Amino acid sequence: MRSRGSWKIRILIGLAIVAFAYFNKCSNTETNPYTGREQHITMNPEQEIAIGLQSAPEMAQQHGGLYPDERLQTFVDAVGNKLVQNSIARETPYQYDFHLLADDRTINAFALPGGQCFITYALFKQLNEAQLAGVMGHEIGHVIGRHSAERIAESQFWQQTMMGATVGAGDLGSVVGAIGQNTLLKNGRGDELESDDLGVLLMIQSGYDPNEMVEVMQILKSAAGPNRVPEFQSTHPDPENRIEKIKESIRKYQGR
Ligand SMILES: [Zn+2]
Repeated sequence: MRSRGSWKIRILIGLAIVAFAYFNKCSNTETNPYTGREQHITMNPEQEIAIGLQSAPEMAQQHGGLYPDERLQTFVDAVGNKLVQNSIARETPYQYDFHLLADDRTINAFALPGGQCFITYALFKQLNEAQLAGVMGHEIGHVIGRHSAERIAESQFWQQTMMGATVGAGDLGSVVGAIGQNTLLKNGRGDELESDDLGVLLMIQSGYDPNEMVEVMQILKSAAGPNRVPEFQSTHPDPENRIEKIKESIRKYQGR
């Protein structure tokens, strides 16, 4: 008798936690003014900037620190700032910084929330200025699209939901967990496409030839083996599809 009662209570508490997680998610929905897309976000831009600034030194350290040549560092800064000053990025509340990393083996570029953008020397040395602008434009796209903040909110939601499911009926937790992971991966692909699209827009607004973004994809495609590009290729849609979407973006923004 007693165990049946506690079983019901457990289910009720579990449902209440799931309902609370869902309520939280709905009440944290906002429309991104730069992409027009509805997102679930649980932090404000100041918090995003703080997280980015806090993690930046460690991220740089993982790639051998900053590239020692000040001239090249200044050049990366100049291209990044040109993109920010001439585009919608200027209106955003973020604090953009561009860093050239010493790593000459890993072909990679990435952005932290709030505006810290990085490119490794291994990728940098393969690019001309417009292609560098394409890579940096894509990274600024992740910042403007608030993709990290969205991932964090998403994982908070699934953690709460899983807690509710675990309280309600032990085994369900792992099922919900699996669904959560798939959702994260699916959104990851969407993030890359949105960043490509924003990158194209930033290039056009800053006077760079957006067709160089297609060239960047070709360069990344030919980078195989141990020199794979984690940020660009891990969760990305297949390159051909991505190139098609980039060409669509070019037509969309140039037709304006
Ligand atoms: Zn990306």
